[in-house]
Amino acid sequence: MSDKDVIPLQRPWLGEEEIMAAAEAIRNNHLVGDGLICKRVEVQMRELFGVKHVLLTTSCTHALEMAMIALDVAPGDEVILPSFAFSSCANAIVLRGARPIFAEIDPVTLNLDPDDVRRRITLHTKAVIPVHYAGVGCNMDVFMELAEQHGLFIVEDAAQAVDAKYRGRYLGTIGHIGCYSFHYTKNITCGEGGAFLTNSDEIARKAEIIREKGTNRSAFLRGEVDKYTWVAAGSSYVLSDLLAAVLEAQLAKRGETKRRHEAIWERYYEALTPLAKDDLLMLPAIPDSCESNYHLFFFRVKSEQQRERVIRQLNAEGIAATFHFIPLHSAPFARAVTCSPHDALEITASASQSLIRLPIYPDLERSDQDRIVQVLKEAVEN
Ligand SMILES: *Cc1c(COP(=O)(O)O)cnc(C)c1O
Repeated sequence: MSDKDVIPLQRPWLGEEEIMAAAEAIRNNHLVGDGLICKRVEVQMRELFGVKHVLLTTSCTHALEMAMIALDVAPGDEVILPSFAFSSCANAIVLRGARPIFAEIDPVTLNLDPDDVRRRITLHTKAVIPVHYAGVGCNMDVFMELAEQHGLFIVEDAAQAVDAKYRGRYLGTIGHIGCYSFHYTKNITCGEGGAFLTNSDEIARKAEIIREKGTNRSAFLRGEVDKYTWVAAGSSYVLSDLLAAVLEAQLAKRGETKRRHEAIWERYYEALTPLAKDDLLMLPAIPDSCESNYHLFFFRVKSEQQRERVIRQLNAEGIAATFHFIPLHSAPFARAVTCSPHDALEITASASQSLIRLPIYPDLERSDQDRIVQVLKEAVEN
C-alpha cells in the first residue's frame, strides 16, 4: 500500500489562504517573533475568545512552562494533574523542581475528576491542571470552587480545546491561566505554536517578561520604560510572525473547521451507536455544559487485546486509527519525580488500554469515512 492510500489520523486544513498569508509575511519581511502580525492576532484572539490577555507562544508546552514560572511553582510545591495527559503537563511542573500529583479521570469524558482532585489537595498544593480532553471541557465550576476554597491556581490545558466552550465561555479563558496549542495535529494550526491566556493583569505582566528572555522589552515597546533590561528569569517563547500569519488565516476559517469536525464526529457517532447498543463498544458523551470543537473522535472497546486487534485490522486497511496517552503515573520517569507511590489509578489505566481514535480532519472524504466505519464494524463484530 502506498502512502497516498493511507487515511491519516489528522491532517491540517491548509489552502491558498495560508500560502498567501505566508508569502505576504515573507515579502514584507515579517518574520521576527512577537512582531506586528503576532500583535494583530493577539488582539483578534482577545476579542474572539473574550479574554483580557493573549500571548502567542512557540507551543502549548511552552505556555504551560510559562504558567508554572509565572505562578512561582517551586521545590516543595505540588501540582495536581490527570495521569491521562501529555508529558508536557508534567514536565512543566518537574522543570520547576515541584512534584506532579496524578489524579483520576471520569470514565466517559476522560477529563480530570474533581472529587479525586479534592482528595489529593494538601498544604503543599499550588495549582491544578485540568486537561480538556478531545475538545470537551472539564467541570470548571467545581475546579474554580476548589481553587477559591484552597487558594489554588487553575491552569487549563486547552491544547485540544481551542474554539470549544463550557457554559457559554471559551475554554482556556475560565481558569487563572489557559494554554492553547496550534501544533500540526490540532484543529487550528500553524505547524508549531501556542498561546498563553489570562484575565489577570499581574500574571500577564509576569508572563510577558518570562516570554521575552526575562526582559521588560514588552513594556519598552509600549513606551512605558525608556530602555529595556534583564528583570527576571525567563526564556524565549515568542512565536515568529511568519507562523502567526498562517495562524491568522487558520483562525479566519475556524467556524468551517469546527462545522466539518462536528459533521464527521456525528457521522461516526451515529454509525457506531448500534454497536454501542449491542454493548460491543462504549461511545463518549458530551455533557450539556459543554460545546465541543470535536477535536478527536474516540471510543472504547472491551479489552486491550481487542483494542490491539481492531487497530491492527484498521491499519492493515490503510486507516491510521490509533491509541492515545499512556498514563503518566505508570511511566518509568514518574517514579523518579514523585516520591510518594501513586495508587493504581484504575480508571485511567483501563481507559488508556481500551481507547481507539479514528481519523478526523476537515477534508476527510465521505467515502473514506464510510470505508473506515465498514472496516471497523467488521473488526469489532468478529
Ligand atoms: C498537543 C498537546 C499538548 C502540547 O502541545 P504543543 O503545542 O505541541 O506543545 C499539550 N497538552 C495536550 C493535552 C495536548 O493535546
